[in-house]
Amino acid sequence: MKDAQTAEFFLKGLERHGIEKRQFGHDFVYRYPESAKMPVLSPTELKRELQGMDFTGQEMAFYLHVPFCTSICSYCHYFKQLATRQETEGYMKAAAAEIGNYRKLAKGKIELNSIFFGGGTPTILGGKQLAGLLGRLAEEFELSLEKEISIESSPETLSEEKLFGLREAGFNRLSIGVQDFNDEVTRRCNRNHDRKQAVEAFDTARAAGFENINIDLIYGLPGQEKKHWGENMEKIEGVRPESVTASDLRVLPGTALYSAGREKFPKIRELLEMYSMFCEKMLSMNYIQQFPYQFVKRGKEMQFLELQWGSGSFIGIGPSSCSYIAGWDYNNAFPMENYTEAVAENGLGAAVGKKLSGKEEMVRFAALALKKSGANRENPGIGKGEFRKRFGVELEQAFKGQIEKLEKLELVESNAKSISLTGKGMFFHDEIAKQLFKG
Ligand code: SF4
Repeated sequence: MKDAQTAEFFLKGLERHGIEKRQFGHDFVYRYPESAKMPVLSPTELKRELQGMDFTGQEMAFYLHVPFCTSICSYCHYFKQLATRQETEGYMKAAAAEIGNYRKLAKGKIELNSIFFGGGTPTILGGKQLAGLLGRLAEEFELSLEKEISIESSPETLSEEKLFGLREAGFNRLSIGVQDFNDEVTRRCNRNHDRKQAVEAFDTARAAGFENINIDLIYGLPGQEKKHWGENMEKIEGVRPESVTASDLRVLPGTALYSAGREKFPKIRELLEMYSMFCEKMLSMNYIQQFPYQFVKRGKEMQFLELQWGSGSFIGIGPSSCSYIAGWDYNNAFPMENYTEAVAENGLGAAVGKKLSGKEEMVRFAALALKKSGANRENPGIGKGEFRKRFGVELEQAFKGQIEKLEKLELVESNAKSISLTGKGMFFHDEIAKQLFKG
C-alpha cells in the first residue's frame, strides 16, 4: 500500500472498528493470558506437576535467554544488562544447573526439535562459553546436530574466530540484529555497530559455513524514513539471507524512547507503507512468508517459531525466559540476582505464571496460530481440524462473533481447513490476535 491517501483511509476505517495500530505501549502477542495478568507461581507446585512427566515422542523446543549486551538500545524492553565478569559467571552456573534440573524432573530423556539462544546478545559470550552451554544441553537432552540450533547476535560481537567457533560447536542458524543499514538511524538508537560491521559479519558468517542466516530489521525507528527503508530492501536483495525478519517498533514504558519526543517517529501510515515495501520486495524474490513479519527461503522455514506459534512445548532457561510445558505458561525470575537465587533455592528459575484453564488454552492456541499466516506458506493459520481435536468444539463456534467481524473487515479468510490472515490483515497480526482474547 504505497499510496499515502489510500493507507490513511484504510487505517481510519479499521480504527472505527477498534483495530488500531499503536507505536506506544503496544506489545507483541506471544501468550494468553497476557503477561501483566500472570500471577506469582509456586515453584513447588510446578515441580510437583512436572515430576516424572514423560515427554517421549513429544515435540519440545529449548530457549536460552542470555541477557548481556554491549550497549543498551534506546527502544529495548527485554530484560538485558551490560556484561560484568562476576554476573556472567553467576549466570553460567545458574543456567547450567537449571538445564540439569529439568532433566532430573522429567522421566526419560527429552528430545529437542529446535534450540534458540536469544537475548540480549548471546554472542557477547565467548565461543568456549557458548559451546559449553550447548554441550551441557547435549549431555542432558536428546539433541541432534541436524536440528535447528539458532543463535541471535549483534554485528559488533561477531569476530571471525567467534563465528568459526560457533559453527564448529554445532550452531547452524545465525540471526544478525542489524535493524537498519543506515548508520545515523542505528546511532540514534544507541546500537553499537555500523553498516560496514553488519555486512562484514554477514560475509564472515558465510565463510564460516553458516548456510542459514537471518537478518533482523525494525521499521518505525526514530528518524527512519521511507528512503532509508528502501535502501534496506536493496541491501537485502544484494545479500539474500535465508530469512529476513522485519518488526514494527514497539515503544514501551521504561525505555529511553518512551519519553523521547514523539514527533521524531514515522507515522503509522508510513509504517504500513514500509511493511508493504518489505512484503513486495520479499515476494518479488520468491521468498515464502512464513509469518506476517518473517520471510524465508523454501527449505529454511524456522522450526523454533513454527513450534511456538503452534502451541508446542518449550523450556526456557535464564532470567526472564518464558516456558510453556504441560499447560503451564510461566516466566523465570529477573533481574540476575533474583534468577540465581530462585535456581539456588528451587532448582528452577520459574517465578510468574500459571497452569492455563481449558478456555485459556483455547484462546492461546487460536491467537498464536494466526501468526502462522503468510502469503504463500503451507498450512496457514488456525487449523480447523486440529482445533476440533484439541478442544472438542468447532473454531467458528468458539469465536463466532470475532471471526464474523474479522471476515467482514476482510482481515481473515476461511476455507474448509483453516482460518488465516488476509494480505490486509498481516500488518495487524497482533491487533487481530487480541480480538480473539475476547472469545
Ligand atoms: S541488543 Fe537487543 S537485547 Fe540488547 S539492548 Fe539492544 S535490543 Fe535490547
